Amino acid sequence: MEKVVRLVKTVTSAYLWAKHRERLLSTQRGVLILMYHEIASLRSSVFEQLPVFCTAPESFSQQIDWLRKHFEVINIDEAVRRLRGQCCEDGAAVVLTSDDGWSGFYRHAVPLLRSRALPATIYITTSILDGKLPWYVRWRILLTEQPQIREWLSDALCTHGTIKEANDILSTLKQLDLAKIESLWKEATEKRGFVPNHMPSGWFMRVEEVREAVSAGITIGAHTVNHPQLSWETLSVASKEVLESKQILEQLTGQPVRHFAYPSGDYSDDVAELVRQAGFETAVTTDMGWNQLGADLFRLRRIDVHETAYLDHRGRFSEAMFALTITGEWNRVRRRLRFWR
Ligand SMILES: [Zn+2]
Repeated sequence: MEKVVRLVKTVTSAYLWAKHRERLLSTQRGVLILMYHEIASLRSSVFEQLPVFCTAPESFSQQIDWLRKHFEVINIDEAVRRLRGQCCEDGAAVVLTSDDGWSGFYRHAVPLLRSRALPATIYITTSILDGKLPWYVRWRILLTEQPQIREWLSDALCTHGTIKEANDILSTLKQLDLAKIESLWKEATEKRGFVPNHMPSGWFMRVEEVREAVSAGITIGAHTVNHPQLSWETLSVASKEVLESKQILEQLTGQPVRHFAYPSGDYSDDVAELVRQAGFETAVTTDMGWNQLGADLFRLRRIDVHETAYLDHRGRFSEAMFALTITGEWNRVRRRLRFWR
């Protein structure tokens, strides 16, 4: 069934792209911010565990070449000037970003971007610099390695057994504050015996790699210390997470850190305000879409990019699917067809 759906999607995309290509390319205005996470080969362990976070290096290279052919690739500071109306360009421009500090983005994407003199921003969760895996990565690995934990966790989360899929469990965990998530982790691993067999190392950037990325022209932004859902925390915890990550990265890079990404795209009016008061100039969300002149700089929209969304029925990168998604056309079609994921 999956194969048939993918074939239909491939054919439909190719048709729509051929038909609307000129219109979609010529009418785009504003700033598109793309959100990447990890760049990793299809056969790597990170790709097997977390496919929706990954883009293969070859696909990334194809996407970048396609983007620079059709749009201007600018850095986040240039995007701010455009959105404030401080410079005169009125065409479409793209900003590349990657969240969390995945090492594959540093190893594969940064050299490629450097060779093409293209900018990007990496938003770093600073606890990874101490070798810690973000909580959602640890849970994902545990849920995959030990599926029997799902029953216990489903009860512990008071879902009365109604959710058992890993994605649903993670979504439910995202509605808790970090202290509760960590106490569940402690109970699962220390009292209930759900011990992960192997926690990977080397998935995230090291301190010296952050410094090298800065030398390569990458903008470093903050993404909190521990990746909590900020709107579920008290304002004092949220404020500490925001401020500390800024201070740590400024000390490490010797540069002001002026850009922020909300973990899991979660924010509220209060959170947006405290990020502004912490001295940031922008904050990116996971709200989908382009940003137009006058956009709220603390609610910047982005479009998520990961490999599995753009594979055709033969498992190859599809320019049509990628183009239709980032121009917003695929979403319009999907809304009309309703049943399509
Ligand atoms: Zn993140």
